[in-house]
Amino acid sequence: MNEKERLYYLDQMGVQVWVSKNAPELDHDHDANGVNVNKDVEANIPSSSLDDLKLIVSNCTQCELHRTRTQTVFGEGHPAAEWLIIGEAPGADEDRLGKPFVGRAGQLLTSMLRAMGLAREEVFIANVLKCRPPNNRDPQSNEVASCSAYLRKQIELIQPKIILVVGRVAAQSLLMIDEPIGKMRGQKYTYQETGIPVIATYHPAYLLRSPQQKRKAWEDLKFALDVYSR
Ligand code: SF4
Repeated sequence: MNEKERLYYLDQMGVQVWVSKNAPELDHDHDANGVNVNKDVEANIPSSSLDDLKLIVSNCTQCELHRTRTQTVFGEGHPAAEWLIIGEAPGADEDRLGKPFVGRAGQLLTSMLRAMGLAREEVFIANVLKCRPPNNRDPQSNEVASCSAYLRKQIELIQPKIILVVGRVAAQSLLMIDEPIGKMRGQKYTYQETGIPVIATYHPAYLLRSPQQKRKAWEDLKFALDVYSR
């Protein structure tokens, strides 16, 4: 991605970047396009592919969330993605469409990825929970415990080089720690015993409510790029 495109997508994120007089002008005329591991459940997942796993998840009744969902939201993206993006849980739009990160927060996530030089199709996007919590409440620990085996299996099948986790709840669930997101930022964690680096940043929905934090999010994304390239 050239500098002009990067500046465009940063602009789409809402990050104002100082540019020199010689920098290319922005083009506004184009579209911007922890888990408590349930080892017992995991051991019983016979899937050898993401498609198999998706089918199993679609029929899951392991926790009460299956009663209120419209459909499961397995996640989507490249089956051998180097970047795995993990959020908290489906919201209303995701529950309706069966896809992760749609709506305004999804558009912002897409812009964040593009600013990093990544197309949405080349990453894999998933959530800690595959079913929507009613009224978008925080996931409960028993729900995370029930669903964690699926996420772990996704990671095992995709084998990403790096995980970008967005939002406090997802980061705390994935990493099984209780730190506030502000303390997790700028640190390199690893996912359990896999050695896969995990970088935490703010959730796009939070950035929509608090746009003044977008600059910090961009710092996190640059840090993730740096970790990835090492
Ligand atoms: S949230 Fe996860 S464990 Fe609970 S019913 Fe949905 S897929 Fe199953």
